[in-house]
Amino acid sequence: MGSYNKKMLDAAVAFNFDDLIVLPGLAQVEPKDISIGTRFTKNIALGVPFVSSPMDTVTESAMAIALARRGGVGVIHRNCSLEEELNMVRAVKRAESFIIRNVILISRNSTVGEASTIMLENHISGLPVVEAGKLVGILTSRDVRANDPVNRVEQAMTKDVITAHEDVTETEAINLMRSNRIEKLPVVGSDGTFRGLITYKDIITRGKYQHALRDKDGRLVVAAAVSPFDLERAKALSKDADALIVDVAHFHNSAVIAATKKIIKETGREIIIGNLGTKKGVLDSVSALDSVAALRMGIGSGSICITTEVTRAGSPTLFAVSQAADALEELGSDIPIIADGGIKNSGDIALAFVFGASSVMMGQVFAGCEESPSPKTRIEDKYYKVHRGMGSAAARAKRAIVDRYADSGGKNIEEGIEILVPFRGRVDDAVDELVGGLRAAIGYAGATDIREMRNASVALVRTPAHKDGIRLKGNK
Ligand code: GDP
Ligand code: 5GP
Repeated sequence: MGSYNKKMLDAAVAFNFDDLIVLPGLAQVEPKDISIGTRFTKNIALGVPFVSSPMDTVTESAMAIALARRGGVGVIHRNCSLEEELNMVRAVKRAESFIIRNVILISRNSTVGEASTIMLENHISGLPVVEAGKLVGILTSRDVRANDPVNRVEQAMTKDVITAHEDVTETEAINLMRSNRIEKLPVVGSDGTFRGLITYKDIITRGKYQHALRDKDGRLVVAAAVSPFDLERAKALSKDADALIVDVAHFHNSAVIAATKKIIKETGREIIIGNLGTKKGVLDSVSALDSVAALRMGIGSGSICITTEVTRAGSPTLFAVSQAADALEELGSDIPIIADGGIKNSGDIALAFVFGASSVMMGQVFAGCEESPSPKTRIEDKYYKVHRGMGSAAARAKRAIVDRYADSGGKNIEEGIEILVPFRGRVDDAVDELVGGLRAAIGYAGATDIREMRNASVALVRTPAHKDGIRLKGNK
């Protein structure tokens, strides 16, 4: 061999999704019997291994609700005010529950018109009337229609309310509502204090989504993104969100780690950290922090990402996942790994599991769905949705996200672009498609679940992404 520079010879091979294929193994079970349950964080188990990115063209309440209903989880983005982010998290928590605790109420002295506005604004059709903590009536949209808007609620409400106690079961609640032809069932204590509300609609929805990801009160699970330097936002969100993601492009940074230490200490919630790209980054971060709920791995591979073009820095998602797995093995830790960036299909997802990921975060895949907040546009006879990097000029123009990407001291550099992704229908359909493909992939590999995928073997494929000359070390 000729004379080569040592750094070049020692350069790691940072493979990404298009470089490798999973080799088939002895299949022992049918694809339908393959389990795709996994862990999102140390304490949150997922029914399907899919997480939606905290991006303003991907995850707001509608996306988080749709994904949680299927057993995945959405991470609400932070490119907005604290109040807006909090409202999005709360909308997910309110979307369905057995007993709603944070119920929107009305007072008997308000007018029917005021009640009607509250109902319209909150998309609800019934308001319990509570006075000094006690339930005194209920006003439904039927009462609103039958009364003049200037009338007082007291004149329009139903006073003889059918109620239930806290220990009511779903079957009892549904029987009570059916036999009385009502759709709202207030829950009261034995002294008549108002405790919560059960709605018919929620019971039906819950029956339809039996595999939804729920917290102990039956509410959908949701995560939210925060800046490491916004402790106030983290504290405020931690009361409602089930987990927080400290959302920075480059977590391996002393100031970020120090700030995250505070967030972990002061919120008491599960804190996911990222993005990270190297073994050293994971070792330094995990050992500096008291508790890490999960690792978000991958730098510069996102579909809308131009970090690597702008800076020649990055860590391809698959490589980053493998680095995290190595670091965790060294630490003897089982913190779940989230593969993030550039995942296009179920094949990529399967490959991420081979290298140690527990779940995958996707932006582009979900941006194309009906439930993403991004606008739908029609070009010729096809529909598209906009997907944009959070470091793109358009996202940065909103300012809230500016701290995710480096302030170079001069002109802020863009690290993301805006693209159009084909419209792909509802999240439900996307999840079905991914689940089908993933089960087949796990079956081919001869595994029976996501964890066993770690035993699968891979082979190198030569694609344009893998040009001759990259593997100096292996060259004869
Ligand atoms: P509908 O959509 O006209 O049937 O109105 P409902 O009031 O029956 O349902 C409203 C939906 O909003 C249900 O899924 C409720 O669980 C949910 N929701 C969340 N918070 C509240 C609340 O404070 N009051 C009511 N009525 N519904 C709420
Ligand atoms: P996608 O699934 O669309 O390929 O990648 C989504 C991921 O890209 C996000 O979860 C996030 O980690 C990353 N990301 C989002 N916006 C930007 C950006 O502007 N620049 C870079 N470098 N990465 C981004």
